[in-house]
Amino acid sequence: MSARILDGRALSKEIRASLFDRSLRLKNDGRAPGLAVILVGNDPASEVYVRNKSKACDECGVMSKVFHFPNTVSEHELVGLIEELNVSNEIDGILVQLPLPEHVNVRNIIGCISVNKDVDGFHLYNIGGLVAGGTIFPPCTPYGVQLLLETANIEVSGKNVVIVGASNIVGKPMALMLLQKDATVSVCHIKTNDLSLYTKLADVLIVAAGKPGLITADMVKNDVVVIDVGINRMIDGSITGDVDFDNVKHKASWITPVPGGVGPMTVTMLIENTIRSAELRMAINPININPAVTPAEMRLSI
Ligand code: NAP
Repeated sequence: MSARILDGRALSKEIRASLFDRSLRLKNDGRAPGLAVILVGNDPASEVYVRNKSKACDECGVMSKVFHFPNTVSEHELVGLIEELNVSNEIDGILVQLPLPEHVNVRNIIGCISVNKDVDGFHLYNIGGLVAGGTIFPPCTPYGVQLLLETANIEVSGKNVVIVGASNIVGKPMALMLLQKDATVSVCHIKTNDLSLYTKLADVLIVAAGKPGLITADMVKNDVVVIDVGINRMIDGSITGDVDFDNVKHKASWITPVPGGVGPMTVTMLIENTIRSAELRMAINPININPAVTPAEMRLSI
């Protein structure tokens, strides 16, 4: 037996075509949606991610602007730019590419982004919305995973979902989203004793640890659905996930490849959040875009 592939690249292509139509409608109604990306330093991986996001914006008819700072930039300068972007009439989404240099407090920076433009979904308001059952912008990676599961009609209600990795950007928001869908969720992390005890129970296993080969075939049960979020750059330049794909695929019912699984979906959901932000802004105030729209006015449930 070999698992069916959850093809994030193909699904992204379909979604991006519909996103282009939505952007075009907005453009015809006044202006194209706009995304601002803030990049600090010269981390090659971050530069690749930012390039991919800009390319996806072009593909979907979204205007994007990259603000690239040297590593020495002060927190004050970054806050100043974010404050300008918060009130800019041509920007609907603001994204700060992580990681930031150590002298910059990430929480302060994310906290400065207007919740109405927090298209990465990292602001405390948006995270809090996940707990309370509603949010404006769901964090992109878990949002993409949820869509992959839904599109393949993989039901999580009543299922054992095991998440390996408890980061603020993937593991924790993923757990909250699937809890809302009535899954029984376990979250494992570096201090989990006997990881395989949990992974063997999983009907749906989501892995976001950043450890190549962490999940082997003996750690999963037959017919498990495997979502590999990990992106690991190997010495030979190739990219691999956290799951031993070649062996696990023989036990799984569905599995995501790396690359071509969750990665493209993350970028696509970022664009979706940006376009939705523009749609909300235009619908609320189609002529004079009001950047001070309150979260309650823009609230969506996921
Ligand atoms: P992170 O902040 O480093 O978090 C990794 C999490 O995994 C932490 O909770 C860590 O536990 C846990 N962990 C590490 N080793 C483990 C082990 N051996 N057993 C159990 N848990 C372990 O990373 P992240 O930002 O969430 O990203 C995780 C991976 O996903 C990375 O490879 C990243 O590149 C990738 N990623 C991919 C996408 C995408 O679009 N596909 C998006 C975001 C991230 P502790 O906190 O206790 O150490």
